[in-house]
Amino acid sequence: SLTAGIVGLPNVGKSTLFNAITKAGAEMANYPFATIDPNVGMVEVPDSRLDRIQELIPAKKVVPTTFEFTDIAGIVKGASKGEGLGNQFLENIRQVDAIVHVVRAFDDDNITHVSGKIDPIDDIETINLELGLSDLAAVDKRLAKVERAAKGSDKEAKAELAVLQKIKPVLEAGGAVRTIAFDEDEMKIVKGLFLLTSKPVLYVANIAEDDMADPEDSKYFGVIKDYAAKEGAEAIAVAAEAEEEIAQLDDDEKQDFLEAEGVEEPGLNRLIRASYHLLGLQTFFTAGGKETRAWTFKTGTKAPQAAGIIHSDFERGFIRAEVMAFDDLDQYKTEAAVKEAGKLRVEGKDYVMEDGDIVEFRFNV
Ligand code: GDP
Repeated sequence: SLTAGIVGLPNVGKSTLFNAITKAGAEMANYPFATIDPNVGMVEVPDSRLDRIQELIPAKKVVPTTFEFTDIAGIVKGASKGEGLGNQFLENIRQVDAIVHVVRAFDDDNITHVSGKIDPIDDIETINLELGLSDLAAVDKRLAKVERAAKGSDKEAKAELAVLQKIKPVLEAGGAVRTIAFDEDEMKIVKGLFLLTSKPVLYVANIAEDDMADPEDSKYFGVIKDYAAKEGAEAIAVAAEAEEEIAQLDDDEKQDFLEAEGVEEPGLNRLIRASYHLLGLQTFFTAGGKETRAWTFKTGTKAPQAAGIIHSDFERGFIRAEVMAFDDLDQYKTEAAVKEAGKLRVEGKDYVMEDGDIVEFRFNV
């Protein structure tokens, strides 16, 4: 399954955030935790559509979908040259599918900052420089091999050489591979290079609790957002320490806490949803009967493979999918009314699943 890695300088609040995520996850009734790696946390995807479906098509139980976060220890300057267990950290980042980059955006004289001052852009650039240098070393190594092979008639080597030559100057200028436009064939080659700066990134400003109600007031969040926008990336603000507290409360207490802070929902929920989208994940639902349930699929998944997420037999014996959009159920309120409105669709094996589809799969056993 896909996983989002939490990355950042030491002491910026990564563990606090990871604890908040796993504590929220630890309350999940449906998933066993004990067997999972301590650096991996499963989290439920908060989705109000599930409550609405349950209201309209009541089932015995409701099961949200989940995905993984991986906690990656702090990166320090020089990591790409092996400083502070650098290579190992970079290797851990290589294993994740998307990067959640945590940046310190709170003042607190009691919490030491590795470079002695709070400067979010400097912090972001320190990390991105290490990732870029590591990629540049990988690209150079690959170039040395491929250049030789490309001299002959090796078409694949020629294609890879062209991609490497496109990437190198961007990295040398301090840019990230994810900012380069590639066509489909080039993209396949890029994927095979497993470069750190090719992974999608979400910047998370760890703001002070005082700024929770109005993150735009934080003197640091704005600059982080601007930096992200220049890269075409998203930035969100959470107050990690407060989120860790919230995650431990029961539902009533949680509501009181949020009201006292003047916020509508935990920032953690926004972080979870944004990370889910960053990974290219979407949700379909099965509804009614024993359980109403949300399922995770990768953008672009076709109906039979989506059926296979529920059970491999469903994929093998796939006949068709009966699909209604969540928005249509929300509007027409019953499946019968959706059908009457002509919005209940019968889809075949080439149907590409959409976020919010409510599906019944028909299959041979
Ligand atoms: P990591 O090294 O990035 O994992 O950082 P930690 O999560 O261990 O946090 C470092 C220190 O900063 C701890 O003492 C945390 O309690 C504190 N900390 C984390 N988030 C916040 C925050 O939002 N506000 C304040 N004031 N302190 C925080």
